[in-house]
Amino acid sequence: MEHYLTEYLAKQKTTLDDCTDEQLYAAMLSFVKEQTARLVKKDDKGRKVYYLSAEFLIGRLLSNNLLNLGLYEQANQLLAAHGRSLAALEEVEPEPALGNGGLGRLAACFLDSIATLNLNGEGIGLCYHFGLFRQKFEHNSQHEYPDHWLEKEGWLRKTDTVFPVNFGETQVKARMFELDVTGYGADHVIPLRLFDLEQVDEELVSEGISFDKKDIRHNLTLFLYPDDSDEQGRLLRIYQQYFLVSAAAQQILQDTLRRGYSLDQLAEAAVIQINDTHPTMIIPELIRLLVESGIGLDDAVRIVSKTCAYTNHTILAEALETWPLAYLEQVVPQLIPIIEHLDKRVKAAFSDPAVAIIDEREQVHMAHIDIHYGFSVNGVAKLHTDILKESELAPFYHLYPERFHNETNGITFRRWLMLCNPKLNDYISSLIGDGFKKDAMQLKKLSAFADDPAVLQTLLELKHQNKAALAQEILQREGVRIDPDSVYDIQIKRLHEYKRQQMNALYAIWKYFQIKQGILPKRPITMIFGAKAAPAYTIAKDIIHLILCLQQLFASDPEVDPYLKIVMVENYNVSYAEKLIPACDISEQISLASKEASGTGNMKLMLNGAVTLGTMDGANVEIHDLVGEQNIYIFGASSDEVIKLYAQKSYHAGKLYDSNPEIEKLVDFIIDKKLLRIGDVLPLCRLYKEIVGKHWFKTLLDLKDYIKVKERMLSDYEDRTAWSKKMLYNIAGAGYFSSDRTIAQYNHDIWKL
Ligand SMILES: *Cc1c(COP(=O)(O)O)cnc(C)c1O
Repeated sequence: MEHYLTEYLAKQKTTLDDCTDEQLYAAMLSFVKEQTARLVKKDDKGRKVYYLSAEFLIGRLLSNNLLNLGLYEQANQLLAAHGRSLAALEEVEPEPALGNGGLGRLAACFLDSIATLNLNGEGIGLCYHFGLFRQKFEHNSQHEYPDHWLEKEGWLRKTDTVFPVNFGETQVKARMFELDVTGYGADHVIPLRLFDLEQVDEELVSEGISFDKKDIRHNLTLFLYPDDSDEQGRLLRIYQQYFLVSAAAQQILQDTLRRGYSLDQLAEAAVIQINDTHPTMIIPELIRLLVESGIGLDDAVRIVSKTCAYTNHTILAEALETWPLAYLEQVVPQLIPIIEHLDKRVKAAFSDPAVAIIDEREQVHMAHIDIHYGFSVNGVAKLHTDILKESELAPFYHLYPERFHNETNGITFRRWLMLCNPKLNDYISSLIGDGFKKDAMQLKKLSAFADDPAVLQTLLELKHQNKAALAQEILQREGVRIDPDSVYDIQIKRLHEYKRQQMNALYAIWKYFQIKQGILPKRPITMIFGAKAAPAYTIAKDIIHLILCLQQLFASDPEVDPYLKIVMVENYNVSYAEKLIPACDISEQISLASKEASGTGNMKLMLNGAVTLGTMDGANVEIHDLVGEQNIYIFGASSDEVIKLYAQKSYHAGKLYDSNPEIEKLVDFIIDKKLLRIGDVLPLCRLYKEIVGKHWFKTLLDLKDYIKVKERMLSDYEDRTAWSKKMLYNIAGAGYFSSDRTIAQYNHDIWKL
């Protein structure tokens, strides 16, 4: 390593001691790329999984690859010997913003585990030039800018593979780029293939993230999920999805032939995991291509149905994609005969309109294509899969019970413990050995130390060190000073009403009133938020506005500031998550029960010794079962209760508000003079009206219970030894959430590689 770096830097007339971080990063990047290029490309005969996803939120890769290649310690020592640090190099690496949140991050964790478990697979996605968007706060509001992550030399390799993609009125070209995904201790790599529009034109973007949505010949891979609030945006999304699917189908068929299979053996050669409905058109597209190759239509349908498996990520009705048939006709006329054929077969077999592919309003239900014409449907946590079977997808479960699986999500412990929290990682090793790094269930051995005062004390000290490091980071990035001796109460995730950041903000208002009345918390509280809102999601942006206004109000009030601080960090992403998670005391997982499919932030946080404050939703239910009643704080209505409220239409925000002076006072504060002086009338009033007038996300339903349980939690926090024991049980119980377990289970239940 030293020799390589020295030579590389010598060519630029500099040395390990004198070069800039940028130069050192470039040298290290080149070194690691050369190392991975030497590894075997995993490409055995036999079934291969193609993980097809519109998002791969891979995060920075330098440290990750060094760790996986077994070079991390060596790099650390070498850099230290020259007065340099890996941490400083990391700051130079841009983070590829190729995902929104959990779903994209899951895809990245899965590739890491597929490589680590030595399975034959690859990821296929798109290369968005400006990613999602870069978030900036101006005048207490979110503004969006292009994220120029591609500008620097990075991990992507340009390939010579170019596929034509045909739309109704035009043809474009998809060029394949690829990067190597390393596995932990593995002697091979697997590829992540990202397709890019050959003629993409970055000049189209002007003023923030707006661009000409009609110019699809030049805009298709500029951004992830362009704003779909209008017809042009929705059409563009279909163009983008078909662009992915068409290139992926050509890649998969070509790969299958190259590996020595014929196309009628596709189901033996390949399994395609469809990550949410975005890549659903792969099904009619593959059928079309098989028919074109000479296979009969019925056979083509049968083969593709045995090849494709679908993962459902949400039961939010607005997220279950449906496209007007007319839109599909305009964008991909070649698929219409196939989709109509698939629809006819379903209608001939089943009279229930709930399972139709094309409904009476000529809307195409993408998930229905996946379920009828795939061999597997899976949910992402126990509760989520149960809800799919019992309500959301019940008519399908009755038709195809054997197709349904639960695959509870997981996270890679390499990134979310070993890399982001080296101190805790080393300490765990010193207690129970290194076995947990390959077999996460061994973390259970930590339970043996639950009554060891020295261990409990050390856990608290390590947490404090991580909190001090985060305070430094936040001071530097946000210009806000926070106190490492305060409680760090953290909610980091996409902004959505169902995730209920607004309920957390109402807690902040409650605490503010307490402090104003002289009822002071025993210990200062630091509430940290990190969240991006979709650019067209108005209420989500209003919630950000409220939180930022509260942040300013508290900071400018000398009676409040010493006791209660809010920091909303800018541009929350994977790299920021890696800094926030090791420092967290209280993990906020407060979604309206039944709405969060799984969550993975909850897993990352428990693994790092945070204690969960949450509803019985998503994987929180499984966390509860793993750590036990004593080591998690549960509040609020159950998913059964919430589902019943929907059925009976019996939640009325206005009634709760009118009959409950305490709640009324908190909600009214959103439009109090004090806040209106800081913020804007329009968004604050709109949010106020939404909370008291709309019933869907039920902000007020659990508010009182939330406040009560959070207060109990803060009070329990003061018994430091008892709290440390809770931390320990959370770390010890997290092993189940390793994505290695998840992937082994996918392979056992679905892929059978
Ligand atoms: C893990 C992760 C998420 C998912 O968080 P949830 O709390 O499960 O919604 C979102 N964004 C980033 C950057 C993540 O690392």
